[in-house]
Amino acid sequence: MAEKMMKPEEMAKVNHTPPLLSGWMHRPTEIKSGIYCYPSKPSSLEYVGFPHAREWSPLDEDWKLPPNWKQIILEGLRERLEKFRSLKIFMDICVRCGACSDKCHFFIGGGDPRNMPVLRAELLRSVYRKEFTTAGKLMGEIAGARELTVDVLKEWWYYFFQCTECRRCSLFCPYGIDTAEITIIARELLNLLGLNIDWIATPVANCYRTGNHLGIQPHAYKDMIDFFLDDIEEITGIRMEPSINRKGAEILFITPSGDVFADPGTYTCMGYLILFHYLQNLGLDLTWSTYASEGGNFGYFTSHEMAKRLNAKMYAEAKRLGVKWILGGECGHMWRVINQYMDTFNGPADFLEEPVSPLTGTKFENAKTTKMVHITEFTADLIKHNKLKLDPSRNDNLKVTFHDSCNPARGMGLLEEPRYVIRNTCNHFYEMPDNTIREQTFCCGSGAGLNAGENMELRMRGGLPRANAVKYVHEKFGVNMLSCVCAIDRAVLPALMEYWVPEVNVTGVHELVGNALVLEGEKKRETNLRGEPLPGMEEVEDV
Ligand code: SF4
Ligand code: SF4
Repeated sequence: MAEKMMKPEEMAKVNHTPPLLSGWMHRPTEIKSGIYCYPSKPSSLEYVGFPHAREWSPLDEDWKLPPNWKQIILEGLRERLEKFRSLKIFMDICVRCGACSDKCHFFIGGGDPRNMPVLRAELLRSVYRKEFTTAGKLMGEIAGARELTVDVLKEWWYYFFQCTECRRCSLFCPYGIDTAEITIIARELLNLLGLNIDWIATPVANCYRTGNHLGIQPHAYKDMIDFFLDDIEEITGIRMEPSINRKGAEILFITPSGDVFADPGTYTCMGYLILFHYLQNLGLDLTWSTYASEGGNFGYFTSHEMAKRLNAKMYAEAKRLGVKWILGGECGHMWRVINQYMDTFNGPADFLEEPVSPLTGTKFENAKTTKMVHITEFTADLIKHNKLKLDPSRNDNLKVTFHDSCNPARGMGLLEEPRYVIRNTCNHFYEMPDNTIREQTFCCGSGAGLNAGENMELRMRGGLPRANAVKYVHEKFGVNMLSCVCAIDRAVLPALMEYWVPEVNVTGVHELVGNALVLEGEKKRETNLRGEPLPGMEEVEDV
């Protein structure tokens, strides 16, 4: 990344002045390297039955579109306008007040006017006006309407894959227009022509085949868990024995595969294992699954239908194992899919029971229909009921701040529980400025399938507002750890920090729990889950 990327001080000089003399409507899109993601491999599209799989390049003039491409798109748009009332409303009611225009992290960090949410939506809305409104048909450009051309299609592909579907803009819209939903529909339309990106299409195909985005087979998943158990044994002196694929357990635990296969998510995974071991002795009856080995849902980044197909797999596994309810790990979009879509995709999951904590008796009424509880809700409830013996001083080497991941925050309202867990497992916690956290949180800049390597400039630009807020608390309070409850965040924030605030590392909340939890019969801990000396143990290492 470092050789090719411009220096941070150069990238931070962003020009937000729009071009005054040329309008946006007919300005051809310049597809720049570092900003776009590579197109999907045909084999990945074919695996899930997506249409028009082929080799093509965004840099070529000819995108090898089917001859009737325009008809396919317009018919697709017509179908979706009939199916989704929200889309019709979002197309009609924007008054172009501009309240959303400076709220997108891609516009803030990059200055490209087409990344203003109002203009991103206009890319599609202008075609809608031309084809589906009388004013647009009669008055054309005066009514903000334009023809769908190949150039417009290219512009859609370039800019709708520069939106992380984070919904920050929707918060500021007086009409509640959700540009993320517009992006979702635009991506569906592009998908009808095989215009997908590989960072989405291949994880989708993998998940459909093996149950997780990385395409890991069940035995390899189990091997990873075994490696974690070895490490935990070395640190705590205790050999843990989690259940895997056990029929008849009360609870099925599902987490994003990123936690099992990529640092620093792996330490969060160790935190889950330690917590479940601790609770096993108190009566927790829980199993992991090597088949429902993915909580995330990249299908959601390409079409509603694909999101539904992948979501169904988790519930099918819950049915096969005969569990009562599902506990979900720290993930972002997994929770938006569960909280906002599951019930109409595949639910309500009536074959499961309304989740009740076996340790505290708390009924998770918010999970009444989905039957799925977020692990920080579960753990916060345990702490509230004094069920966990915690030693926060084990995290005293950390000055922690918390990044609200967009989907749990804005798509679920999960704001207090992670903070409650952090405050009980760490002694030093500092909030970033108010307009960058909670509902107003800034995106990591790499969500919604954009966490590829080839679009690193886009990612660093999109992550600038978040990094800037981290830099603020780093300089003011000495913060050295950025915590979050999302596996994509854990995968992408380290690169963002390395670029903008290299003094700050990234952690999941349950890594902090795993460090702080005092286990019965454990040996004196000398290191944290990363193998680093615990505060006060540094001298031991030096001797
Ligand atoms: S949803 Fe997020 S990424 Fe997309 S336009 Fe709105 S603020 Fe930007
Ligand atoms: S805030 Fe809402 S109404 Fe105003 S320009 Fe943005 S989308 Fe349109």
